[in-house]
Amino acid sequence: MASTLFDLTGRIALITGSSRGIGRVIAQALAEAGATIVLNGRDEERLAATHADFSAEFGAERVYARAFDVADATAVATAIAEIEASIGAIGVLVNNAGIQHREPMLDLDVEDWNRVISTNLTSAFLVGREVARHMLARGEGKIINIASVQTELARPTIGPYTVSKGGIRNLTRAMTAEWANGGLQINAIAPGYIHTEMTQALVDDDTFNSWILGRTPAGRWGTPADLGGPAVWLASSGSDYVNGQVIFIDGGMTVVV
Ligand code: NDP
Repeated sequence: MASTLFDLTGRIALITGSSRGIGRVIAQALAEAGATIVLNGRDEERLAATHADFSAEFGAERVYARAFDVADATAVATAIAEIEASIGAIGVLVNNAGIQHREPMLDLDVEDWNRVISTNLTSAFLVGREVARHMLARGEGKIINIASVQTELARPTIGPYTVSKGGIRNLTRAMTAEWANGGLQINAIAPGYIHTEMTQALVDDDTFNSWILGRTPAGRWGTPADLGGPAVWLASSGSDYVNGQVIFIDGGMTVVV
């Protein structure tokens, strides 16, 4: 008999920032494990294209899309209430939406600082809070926050990003402290360097690319698909006693100097 440990049939999973990149592949992995998925992003055209691809693969009745800005508190509250009312109970939330901004901190203005912090960190609080209200009322739910190796490692020119991801680590702990005894498991996945649109310029930069390959024991960039398995595990009953952890999926980058 097939194991039901990682079976997500009947679960509704909301994955923020899933029109492309890591979020898209996590959405695909959750759908392959049986979940009904709710896709998200701001660009409606891109979101519609991803929605069409997944509807063709998994069936329209298991694929939804909702365009909203995860950093906008009012839009988030409206969207979560609507999803709960019209699609159903959100059993899995993946707080994945995020942006990068490269600039030395001495040149950085406060608007760019705030944009990165609100998109990458405040968003996880806003979406997490609205979803957790419903999950706590039901006494169960899984929240997966997408952190980064930048929770542990700092590099020049990505100050607010590094701060936002360190915040995601501690937000995961703070959510656990308040919500774990209400039946929720909240954990974070911390990817290493993953080849997506966000990192395309780094892949194209020969010096940086060689540095990454030398700095990563696995000897390669990660791919979004490398994150699918860990996401399914953290979304499933196979991880019911895993609370407040940051799981590094980084080809070993954070264990070597
Ligand atoms: P991409 O730039 O490829 O995709 C980002 C996604 O987030 C898109 O779907 C984008 O859609 C959405 N998004 C951005 N801002 C918002 C917003 N305000 N509201 C709603 N959706 C939004 O990024 P990646 O896939 O590379 O990264 C995904 C996550 O993984 C991020 O949190 C990132 O920090 C993290 N990460 C990435 C790593 C990497 O090496 N690539 C490494 C470690 C962590 P739209 O633009 O239409 O809104």
